[in-house]
Amino acid sequence: MTKLIVDSITELQDTGNFELILTYVLIFGFIQLLSAIASNYQQLISETQSQLVSDYMSTVIIDKAIEVDMSYYENAAFYNTFHHAQRQALYRPVQILRNLSDFIKSTFLLLSLGGLLVFLHWGIALVLLLFALPIAFVKWYYSTKLFNWEKNRTALERESSYLNQVLTTDTYAKEVRIFNLGNILLDRFKGVRRELFDEKYRINNQRARAGVFAKAAEIIAMTLSYAFIAMRTFQGSLTIGDLVMFFGAFQKGQAAIQSLLSAVVGLYNNRLFISHVFDLLNIESLLEQPEHSDPLPSLQNSIQIKNLDFTYPNTDIPVLNNLNLELKKGEVIAFVGENGSGKTTLIKLLCRLYDPTSGKITWDDHDLKNTSLENLRKKISVIYQDFSKYQFTVGENIQIGDFSKTDSAEDLSAAAKQSGAIDFINTFPETYNQNLGRWFNKGRELSGGQWQKIALARAFYKDAELIILDEPSSSIDPLAEAKIFEHFRELAKDKILILVTHRLYNLKIADKIVVLHEGGIEEEGTHQELIELNKRYKDMFEKQGN
Ligand code: ADP
Repeated sequence: MTKLIVDSITELQDTGNFELILTYVLIFGFIQLLSAIASNYQQLISETQSQLVSDYMSTVIIDKAIEVDMSYYENAAFYNTFHHAQRQALYRPVQILRNLSDFIKSTFLLLSLGGLLVFLHWGIALVLLLFALPIAFVKWYYSTKLFNWEKNRTALERESSYLNQVLTTDTYAKEVRIFNLGNILLDRFKGVRRELFDEKYRINNQRARAGVFAKAAEIIAMTLSYAFIAMRTFQGSLTIGDLVMFFGAFQKGQAAIQSLLSAVVGLYNNRLFISHVFDLLNIESLLEQPEHSDPLPSLQNSIQIKNLDFTYPNTDIPVLNNLNLELKKGEVIAFVGENGSGKTTLIKLLCRLYDPTSGKITWDDHDLKNTSLENLRKKISVIYQDFSKYQFTVGENIQIGDFSKTDSAEDLSAAAKQSGAIDFINTFPETYNQNLGRWFNKGRELSGGQWQKIALARAFYKDAELIILDEPSSSIDPLAEAKIFEHFRELAKDKILILVTHRLYNLKIADKIVVLHEGGIEEEGTHQELIELNKRYKDMFEKQGN
């Protein structure tokens, strides 16, 4: 249109016929309008798409985070993969979409402009392409370099995130203040950020320099081509309108070639970065799962641990050695032993957070390995010593034990009663609807012992057949503790209740006490039997001032 306007002005100036020129101008305006509509909608579509894709990818990553075995959370390599995937998943897929649409758009543009440029001189089209290549090469080379750099520096990047977390979350706030850690850790944080900054700056700086050279080559080619067009116009083989059109086409062609090559390079690079996401998505469970698993039947007699050995993945020190133990229905069983003797590990195996290295655990006659994790976990309830404090309501904090229960008001108060939480819950104006924690509005913070009672209520709320309580009363005062232990016998009536505890004076109620030492069972029996045996248990019991 620009060519037509310019040419018609030159031709019709003498005739005084302005109507045709005006028509061209109006058409030109109309095309601009269409283009503006298209570009605004393109922006809308592109932003909507970005939002949808990144929201979708977030859920894919969270899904995977829930699905992976617990063992991955005890492994630094997993955290590296996870950190990468989380960072890349939010924007790389969006960039890939953008690369694809740029690729299509610039291909169309190039095809239409290519005809024009070849018509001028085929050499010009070729020159444009050739001189865009160095720019594409620089982009490709440095993105690959950046990719490798990021991959190698993940651990450092994570260290800085970790320091940030220590300095800014409530979990650490008390110690950060008491031990004056603030400035020390902040300096460490700054050091790590500086190191990362310097290294990345060096790569970006090199890229900028190489980019200038590549661009200079392209500018030379463009200047020569402009000179060629100007000369042809000067010689009269092109009209002024042609000159305007070719200059325009040239600029657009140059932009289109660059955008095409950038899209190709971008696709290549984003494919590299997105590989982190696939590294995460391809993680497979180490736990065997049957393709089809019937619900685990109710426990009739006992859970049996047979010749069980266990070594944590990626380590070579055995933690449990040749363990044999029967846990009978209706029993309260206590695991005791020094720190590191293997109590928590044994519990992890009972819940199938890990599978035994050799030997097996059976639920009556069913090998735990042959049941799905979901079916097994429906049957068990566990409160670990580092139980979670959810910033939800009191009711939800307890119902977390089994969200599938409906009409649960009675069970809720029964569980709260068994754990002793009911006394303070009833003092809250909103009772079970009281928000806990300080993260959200109108939340109420509880003491350590009160939180523990809420966690215990969570374990009791679930109709589980195996209840495992790891240090269930570590923060609870002795009077309340005694009351809770009184309930344990009744609670275990048609279940198995396992206690891991250092507070041996409570264990007279246990049907069986299992003393673990260096990964093996050293003693086994009731409190009275073990006192009479006069070995490690008695020694530990007496050292506690009993
Ligand atoms: P306890 O609960 O009796 O204090 P644990 O079962 O936690 O003992 O630990 C038993 C041994 O296993 C310890 O030597 C500990 O270092 C090791 N251990 C615990 N967790 C892991 C893990 N995730 N990876 C490797 N070793 C571990």
